[in-house]
Amino acid sequence: MASGTPQQKRLFTDQERPSSLSGSDSPFALRRQLNERLDLHRLQGARHLHVSPPGKALAKIAAEVAACKRCVLWKTRTQVVPGQGNPRAELVFVGEAPGAEEDKQGLAFVGRAGRLLTRILNAISLDRDDVFIGNVLKCRPPANRSPLPDETASCLPYLLAQLDIMKPRVICALGAVAASALLGESQPIGRMRGSFIPYRGAKLIATYHPAYLLRNPPEKRKVWEDMQKVRDELGLEESGRKG
Ligand code: SF4
Repeated sequence: MASGTPQQKRLFTDQERPSSLSGSDSPFALRRQLNERLDLHRLQGARHLHVSPPGKALAKIAAEVAACKRCVLWKTRTQVVPGQGNPRAELVFVGEAPGAEEDKQGLAFVGRAGRLLTRILNAISLDRDDVFIGNVLKCRPPANRSPLPDETASCLPYLLAQLDIMKPRVICALGAVAASALLGESQPIGRMRGSFIPYRGAKLIATYHPAYLLRNPPEKRKVWEDMQKVRDELGLEESGRKG
């Protein structure tokens, strides 16, 4: 008779079905499932697996962010938005700053722009849980104004620390503000987008922010072009669902 915890049953199922690395045999999917299995072994007490858990390191940063008063935005935030997703994400999205809904929920990219980002992800065969989604600023600027230089300088180290923990293969900067903050140079997004740039051991590509796409739907075509490059870089399949 079958017995065991749900996790054990899941492991058993995986062992029974090596092809359950199923759905996709891309290196991205294989690595993800291998990491899930390592997590499972850790949960089951296999302490000899000394693989550093990046989730713990990210949680430590989130705790620091929650108490942060490095810039004035702590005074007006409802809650911090440290970013969320897969601690071992191979693809990380970086936006500008939380908006009203993000400030309310403590989650990055929720609301209309967030739903569009989800559809963009689905178009390259990914779900939100596969990636990490965050912002340059972890607190909402009042009335969604643009981040001030001192706010960016104060908050950027948190994002850089998160990137150094996750070591993604691809970083996608959403919008000119995020791209400029990461690259340290200010240019229109139309000039920065569409090409990979080496960045902290990853490849950075900039594209339009989903909120901009909501106002300018024809630009979705360019984002789709950029996402195809991301998809190819990660060895993903096209899902047929376009954002
Ligand atoms: S925006 Fe960043 S630096 Fe400023 S208070 Fe929030 S977490 Fe701290």
